[in-house]
Amino acid sequence: MSRVALEVVDLKAAIGGVEILKGLDIEVPFGTVHALMGPNGSGKSTLCHVLTGKSGYEVSGTATIDGEPILDRDVDERARAGLLQAFQYPVEVPGLELQVFIDEAVQASGASPEESRERIAAATKRFGMDRFLGRALNDELSGGEKKRSEIFQVAVLQPKVAILDEIDSGLDIDAVKEVAEAVATMRGEDVGVLLITHYSRILGYVEPDRVHIMIDGRIVESGGPELADVLEEGGYRAVRTRLGIEPPQAEAAEKQAADFFTETPFDT
Ligand code: ADP
Ligand code: MG
Repeated sequence: MSRVALEVVDLKAAIGGVEILKGLDIEVPFGTVHALMGPNGSGKSTLCHVLTGKSGYEVSGTATIDGEPILDRDVDERARAGLLQAFQYPVEVPGLELQVFIDEAVQASGASPEESRERIAAATKRFGMDRFLGRALNDELSGGEKKRSEIFQVAVLQPKVAILDEIDSGLDIDAVKEVAEAVATMRGEDVGVLLITHYSRILGYVEPDRVHIMIDGRIVESGGPELADVLEEGGYRAVRTRLGIEPPQAEAAEKQAADFFTETPFDT
């Protein structure tokens, strides 16, 4: 049986009394790339926050990394268990060199200084990062360069589960292709990748093993890569219609207004 890198069962999360994740299940085996797609506000980033341990959420359900439960662990312990999230908007840290930062991070994850050096050297070559190592973390990098730097960091840290939250957002077409090619090289038998996006474009370059559609805090449909093409054609609206899911509140309000006019003819 294939080992499971990330398993999430009946995950619920609320913040400020508002329920955002409403019983989410997902399973990402080692060696696979799964795409998680969903409209704005469906809870994709909340899922990342809850998995990585951001505070402020009321959480129930389970999540395991390589069989190890993580939801009752603190942020550092989750990272040591092998979870890594690349950020939607990488932070700029002027004054902290990428080389220094990544070396500390790898050693904090338990690698020896020699192993850290070797991993950094190998990934530097692979991603052409030479000229960025001595520069400050993400400072003055273009959008595409920042994302490449993130993927370089993932390659060096060798997590068991890599979550990439909208790594394609705000990139031009060439940069999306470049980032996608880098993501494709992350595929490996010791890692499960969860690629979160709301556009199918990146999936044209990184063929996912599974595609999951998330709406209103739940996975409503899962399938092969062809599911992304179906989305491209009809959008999330078609998915809602097909599955009989209520439209979002704004659309419901519009429809109600429209019904009011059709159902209340003017008195003559
Ligand atoms: P996505 O990443 O899919 O666009 P998010 O996880 O960012 O969605 O947000 C899901 C929903 O949760 C949205 O309706 C958002 O407004 C709401 N939300 C996110 N953070 C908070 C918060 N701190 N307080 C209240 N609601 C929040
Ligand atoms: Mg988001």
